[in-house]
Amino acid sequence: MNPIYMDNNATTACDPAVVQAMLPFFTEQFGNASSIHSFGAQVGKALKEARGRVQTLLGAAHDSEIVFTSCGTESDSTAILSAIKAQPERRTIITTVVEHPAILTLCDQLEKEGYVVHKLKVNKKGRVDLDEYKSLLGQFGDRVAIVSVMWANNETGTIFPVEEMAEMAHEKGIMFHTDAVQAVGKLAIDLKSTKIDMLSLSGHKLHAPKGIGVLYVRRNTRFRPLLRGGHQERGRRAGTENSASIVGLGVACELAMQHMAAENTVVKRLRDRLERGVLAKVPNAFVNGDTLYRLPNTASIAFEYVEGEGILLMLNKQGIAASSGSACTSGSLEPSHVMRAMGIPYTAAHGTIRFSLSRYNTEEEVDRVIAAVPPVIAQLRKLSPYWSGEGPVPNPEQAFRPEYA
Ligand code: PLP
Repeated sequence: MNPIYMDNNATTACDPAVVQAMLPFFTEQFGNASSIHSFGAQVGKALKEARGRVQTLLGAAHDSEIVFTSCGTESDSTAILSAIKAQPERRTIITTVVEHPAILTLCDQLEKEGYVVHKLKVNKKGRVDLDEYKSLLGQFGDRVAIVSVMWANNETGTIFPVEEMAEMAHEKGIMFHTDAVQAVGKLAIDLKSTKIDMLSLSGHKLHAPKGIGVLYVRRNTRFRPLLRGGHQERGRRAGTENSASIVGLGVACELAMQHMAAENTVVKRLRDRLERGVLAKVPNAFVNGDTLYRLPNTASIAFEYVEGEGILLMLNKQGIAASSGSACTSGSLEPSHVMRAMGIPYTAAHGTIRFSLSRYNTEEEVDRVIAAVPPVIAQLRKLSPYWSGEGPVPNPEQAFRPEYA
């Protein structure tokens, strides 16, 4: 049986059209875009075309606002570090407790260096409180260098009101950045009609290759480059352009435009079918996050009284790839900072699985997953001291204290 890939928030398969478009840039079109000879000019033209395609997907006013980087993490770092370097008198950053580590780890380091970082809390659905945000803006005003809030959360898919939050920041003269790594290609974005100053995206989340990202920088935004050297990217990101990947990203952006409507209908229907099917068959399971304001492809399902890693391993044996809400990379098997921040009871946070779909998934695959999950959960629950009543009586109300409160 064919394997089923439902871990698209981790990374996506390159679209075959993307790969085809990239291939000539490894062979005959290998020039350096900065060279004045025909080899360079050819590549320069292709990069311009790709920049235009990214501009269109983001609804940016100018193609010069698109800066190619190496990944979402680089874009995030560049945005925050640029804001604090360009405004040395402002030493405060506002962000949220549920950002990706690309933002949180950097903020933790900046805090050690003496910057003040305010992390907005989230409620059970993973949403921020705009009143808390408003009062922080009022309280810290001209001390704030930048507000950085993700457009959509990678674990739950919860969407943040970044357009409104950017307006509120601008009213106070504060720069606004959004990590839109999970949103681009899934949600319609029109940057020119917003007050967002900077936006990060990552190629490998939208069927382009790994190793290519973008930082959108609105015209007239005060900016300091992270990498200095050559004049590439109008002096905003030195280093010879990764031309093959940039071309691939351009094609991926054009395909994302074409598939946007389907993403929000076909993919969403598959995701909803998956959730309904699983929840109908498995007791003590629920969906994490905000089911109204949510990415169309993401289902974060908590299965109480079982370990997420156990579920993943058993699904993997059946050729089904998903991911868990545990920070398993740390080796601690602790539930993720997102689950803890939302106050998900530990009995459920431990057993949270994220299924993230793409346009390559089919109804037949969804039905295979719906059939596979219930026996896996039942089998694991037989081994669970909590479920069998042999262990300490769990208190489902017990929640993790938000680490970043
Ligand atoms: N931001 C978010 C919300 C993400 O989900 C990820 C990757 O998972 C990143 C940033 C980092 O992107 P990259 O892997 O391109 O560095």
